[in-house]
Amino acid sequence: MAKKYGMVIDLHRCVGCGACDLACKSENNTPDGIHWAFHKTETYGIFPHVSYKHTPTLCNHCEDAPCVRVCPTHAMHKTDEGFVVHDPNLCIGCKSCMLADPYGVIFYNKEHAFLDYATDDSSIVKGGTFSKKELSDKSKAPFPNFNAARGADGYEAVRRKGAVEKCTFCNHRVAQGLAPACVVACPADARIFGDLNDEKSKIATTLRAHKPTVLLPEKGTNPKVFYIRNYN
Ligand code: SF4
Ligand code: SF4
Repeated sequence: MAKKYGMVIDLHRCVGCGACDLACKSENNTPDGIHWAFHKTETYGIFPHVSYKHTPTLCNHCEDAPCVRVCPTHAMHKTDEGFVVHDPNLCIGCKSCMLADPYGVIFYNKEHAFLDYATDDSSIVKGGTFSKKELSDKSKAPFPNFNAARGADGYEAVRRKGAVEKCTFCNHRVAQGLAPACVVACPADARIFGDLNDEKSKIATTLRAHKPTVLLPEKGTNPKVFYIRNYN
């Protein structure tokens, strides 16, 4: 049977540290203001009896993905393995996918990301001499912590201005037998990634052991990101 990838997030384990968000940013070279992995924090109660709920969020790689349905150029598309991915070369930046996505996890690049590292020759620190351009030239990288491996599979390492972008479930890593960067970075092992069609996989056994929920089930998108062990 073909593989079908998904993710489980254990809310009893998640401590809301944001390591997943940071790992995603450095793995995928996402610019300021763009968070393929993020989380929402809800506060309950009145001081001093207060509790918090952290819910990590990312693209749900929906089985019935409205973003794929509405894309006029097939830039947003679904692979046989269940990844909802995006081809920046086909994207005309119409934002139809953003409007159709009920989860708000697609981002539009309105600027040429990190371009200032190539062009800005003014001092980084007031009164100093070192510039972003010099840093970029000396490190021989477009910007600090640039991950060239992100572009190794042909997907742009930094997506162009005028295109949208979103979580790819780190399909470039999965193709090499690695887990997504957010899964590896989680210090609490709150994320489980794997093949939903393999009944012996950790994700499949976890989903059998716990009653999972998904975000916005009423939208009928059939998400492939599941949440278990909700405190609330
Ligand atoms: S979460 Fe949004 S972007 Fe991701 S597949 Fe579903 S509709 Fe598309
Ligand atoms: S913005 Fe790009 S990916 Fe989204 S619907 Fe338009 S062409 Fe498709």
